Amino acid sequence: MAGKFPSEADAANELMRLARQIARHDKLYHAEDAPEVSDAEYDALVRRNAELEAAFPQLIRADSPSRNVGHAVAASPLSKVTHQQRMMSLDNAFSDEEVAEFVAKVRRFLNLPEDAEVAMTAEDKIDGLSCSLRYEQGKLVRAATRGDGQVGEDVTPNVAHIANIPQQLTGDVPDVFEIRGEVYMSKADFAALNAAQQAADAKLFANPRNAAAGSLRQKDASVTAARPLRFLAHGWGAASAVPAASQFAMMQLIASWGVPVSPLLVHCATTEDLLQHYRSIREGRAGLPYDIDGVVYKVDSLELQQRLGFVAKAPRWALAHKFPAEKAETVVEGIDIQVGRTGKLTPVGRLRPVLVGGVTVTNVTLHNRDEIGRLELRVGDRVVLQRAGDVIPQIVDNLTREEPREAFVFPDHCPECGSEAVAEEGEVDVRCTGGLICPAQRTERLRHFVSRGALDIEGLGDKTISEFFALGWLESPADIFRLKLRRAEILARDGWQDKSVDNLLAAVENKRAPDAARLLFGLGIRHVGAVTARDLMKRFAVLSDLRNAAESEDAKADLLAIDGIGPAVVEALGDFFHEPHNVAVWEDLLGQVSPPPYIVETRDSPVAGKTVVFTGKLETMSRDEAKAQAEALGARAAGSVSAKTDLVVAGPGAGSKLKQAEKLGIEVIDEAAWAEIFKAAE
Ligand SMILES: [Zn+2]
Repeated sequence: MAGKFPSEADAANELMRLARQIARHDKLYHAEDAPEVSDAEYDALVRRNAELEAAFPQLIRADSPSRNVGHAVAASPLSKVTHQQRMMSLDNAFSDEEVAEFVAKVRRFLNLPEDAEVAMTAEDKIDGLSCSLRYEQGKLVRAATRGDGQVGEDVTPNVAHIANIPQQLTGDVPDVFEIRGEVYMSKADFAALNAAQQAADAKLFANPRNAAAGSLRQKDASVTAARPLRFLAHGWGAASAVPAASQFAMMQLIASWGVPVSPLLVHCATTEDLLQHYRSIREGRAGLPYDIDGVVYKVDSLELQQRLGFVAKAPRWALAHKFPAEKAETVVEGIDIQVGRTGKLTPVGRLRPVLVGGVTVTNVTLHNRDEIGRLELRVGDRVVLQRAGDVIPQIVDNLTREEPREAFVFPDHCPECGSEAVAEEGEVDVRCTGGLICPAQRTERLRHFVSRGALDIEGLGDKTISEFFALGWLESPADIFRLKLRRAEILARDGWQDKSVDNLLAAVENKRAPDAARLLFGLGIRHVGAVTARDLMKRFAVLSDLRNAAESEDAKADLLAIDGIGPAVVEALGDFFHEPHNVAVWEDLLGQVSPPPYIVETRDSPVAGKTVVFTGKLETMSRDEAKAQAEALGARAAGSVSAKTDLVVAGPGAGSKLKQAEKLGIEVIDEAAWAEIFKAAE
């Protein structure tokens, strides 16, 4: 971070960086449940931003984090709720004998004869997040997580987005009634969420429970809204009245009020019935739509529950009969390497098919190079497979470690494209460096290349890229600029007319002299984001100089001397140019486009330090480009006209902003005049 009193230009740069950083951390925190910084570090960024804005009010950005109310409170925790009646935990049992002992203890406590049967309920134990829903006059007034049992977190706005939790109960409901149960995510929804996370290169959730917890415990309830959560009731807490005499009857009543209850809840007259229900649930668990980790038994009579009471944090009248971890032995018949869309090489074990927990498993992820090392795994080894969390199988032991066999050699080249595959310092993941030519990554890279933050080629959407890629027309970014040779072929395809083809080709031609920083960012070099690309181009101005620096050991220090550039960037640039495939793509591309030298901020342009508003339709550039030009000239682009506005650039169709400017007597110019100013400053 720069000093306390930077120059105005440095302050503007720092504010730009802060806006990006804070927005990124907000996204990580809210949308991905994967914060990378502590709350204190986040707060420090927000404070620094406020400090700079106070010192340079003229530099406050349209996208300033301080203007974004929702984000300012991002790092503050959910508010606390003290449970009127403590949320209990349950004692566990793992064997039939322990269950029999539990029933015997209940009998002894109640002074019942040794052969007396105690009726109980039995239901599946969902692996979710415990939650208490408080209803007053039948209306949901508060939802809280379990927390430590005494104090939980207020998730009322979040729960409003869970479709099967009624806001209003129906029927004869006591004045106050707290319903308790589990918030969970189904296996199918969990798989879909992780697939979407993967596509977005976002953090994957380890299991449905984590996904449910991360989705519910959100300061921003709109994140919860986007996640498919559900609820199943298994009991109740504080209540002004309990209008039934048994656990089973009470749960049926709760269901009749409109709150979902497990369809597997049964009433069992004998201990043998309990164990039978347990076995039937255990055998059928793979077919259930959600994860469970056992079966819960509760003494059915509420009068007996009352007499039994509690010991420490758990009731004497309930027990969780847990499933044992499902394990099986099998043989690793092969180790394949899969290349993800971000270039990550993931080893996958091909297994001799084996039944674990009711599901046939034929392959298992080995995560990364280190995991193979930890297990000393080789093809042909006999291993113990476990289904952890009921969903993702994993190898927990290698039984033939000692057998003489050649060690598995993790590839140092990508199996898809042959480019070098490297792990960065301190990272376990090995990645393919051939992003631009690797078939596993190419369409993704092309999408990025034409995206708004990069080259911003209109009319070349995801669908078109996939279509052209499948036809073999788009092998690398340079091919985009050769599409004009295929005009007739494109026109011959469904959905294309003269006008749409012309528009597409014109949009491509319009980018023959692209912004060098956007071009660099568009290449998708690891760690070279939009801001980093700009920082690099500010220093080097032309791409060939950047390449020379990246390829030379001596120039490393030059790169590292740039504010904001760290060793990870330098290494990633080195890796990129070390790969001949990338160099070929790079040279091919620069044969098609000629980015002008990158414009370094010119403080002596006539608009430096001024606030500019663009309004109406811009003919020769996008709004983003206009803003970037203003920034390059040391001006600030604002979204609305006020007394602080110095200049308005108005295109055709300019409306209220133009009127406002005229009213305030602010100078108004057209796009051509702006272009002149911009050109003159080059
Ligand atoms: Zn590759």
